[in-house]
Amino acid sequence: METDLYTNMNIIDQLATTYREKFGYAPTHIARAPGRVNLLGEHVDYNNGFVLPAAIDRATYVAFSPTNARHSMLWALDLNQQVSFSVETLASKTQANSSPLPEWALYPAGVMNVLHEEQLSLLNMTAVFSSNVPQGSGLSSSASIEMAFMIAWQMLGGWTLPPMKRALLGQRAENQYVGVNCGIMDQFASACGVENKLLLLDCRSLEWKTVPLPENVSIVIADTTVRRKLTSGEYNKRRSACEEAVRLLQQDLPNIKSLRDVGVEEFNGLAKKLPKEIEKRARHVVEEIGRSNQAEALLEAGDIQNFGRLMNECHVSLRDLYEVSCPELNVMVNIAQSLDGCCGARLTGAGFGGCTVNLVAKEKAESFAQALAKGYEAETGLHPEIYISHASNGAGLLK
Ligand code: ADP
Ligand code: MG
Repeated sequence: METDLYTNMNIIDQLATTYREKFGYAPTHIARAPGRVNLLGEHVDYNNGFVLPAAIDRATYVAFSPTNARHSMLWALDLNQQVSFSVETLASKTQANSSPLPEWALYPAGVMNVLHEEQLSLLNMTAVFSSNVPQGSGLSSSASIEMAFMIAWQMLGGWTLPPMKRALLGQRAENQYVGVNCGIMDQFASACGVENKLLLLDCRSLEWKTVPLPENVSIVIADTTVRRKLTSGEYNKRRSACEEAVRLLQQDLPNIKSLRDVGVEEFNGLAKKLPKEIEKRARHVVEEIGRSNQAEALLEAGDIQNFGRLMNECHVSLRDLYEVSCPELNVMVNIAQSLDGCCGARLTGAGFGGCTVNLVAKEKAESFAQALAKGYEAETGLHPEIYISHASNGAGLLK
């Protein structure tokens, strides 16, 4: 169950082999960019709050070389599809043969597009890429693709951007080119990850620091295998509700710019003025920012029990106030919280399906994963995927 170097070596070997078959020579470079898991601070990045993600040991890998051809040619190994595009075709979101770019290609093309907008030197590449970050499951496969191609184009262009700048450009690519209104957390964690550390990011100032994760706990990720459709519509509705809450609260608190600026006590005093649904959404955000403010001190003190309690509270809040959970996520979390060694469990990512994140005593992690899989399968009839993960380094070149 552990995602170890062996699994990742398989991907890298397969990429290099496929690359050689397609292009007749070995790739000159390999870039890697991880997915991420968020431990605390959910649905607060777009409210200027604090988030606590870690880059994980699952990643997107890109085997690539520069080419003199007029287009970049990208092969998505997992989909068995190929596209070619260049700076000349970016504006129309089409390929060299004028057919539209498929959805998956908007991520790398979006990265090329922002780099072009930034007037950075861009060379075309031939590339094969593959990922073991599951898609649409809350572990940010999209940001890992963006950050991996950002590293690849940086290498070929001969310039260097700081990791946070690469994250911001990746977010801009996803917002403007792909058309997904994501916050900064995913690209940040993929770009800035640090081995064995959690990352505490202030989404307003973009200041961040590492926070220790005690050595005797494991991060266990459990994929419900459920993927909900139409989640972007729900996501946008949550964002609008937060904006509406700020607008209404500004009548009493004219200086606030986002829910980040409202304390829990202050919110309690004004909550009854808000329509019920807006109040619930805003209460999640205000209280979740309050929880994430406690995280650093608890983790520095090694108080994993109380940190885990905050994770459990976060799940209740996402389920009952923000209403982004689903029955399968609730089953996975309920079983996890009843198991020996579990310090905290909650849904992670945007919700409506996907994964839960669990902090588990290291010596219990294997038995926890097995019991969780068994219990979930018995209750839902679904076969979950459970990974014992650990915090990894951010995006970079392997070769
Ligand atoms: P996530 O939470 O995983 O980031 P998104 O919906 O933001 O989910 O991004 C998923 C999209 O990213 C997929 O629909 C696909 O277009 C692209 N993608 C993810 N993984 C791969 C892959 N291995 N190969 C090609 N495209 C991928
Ligand atoms: Mg994504």
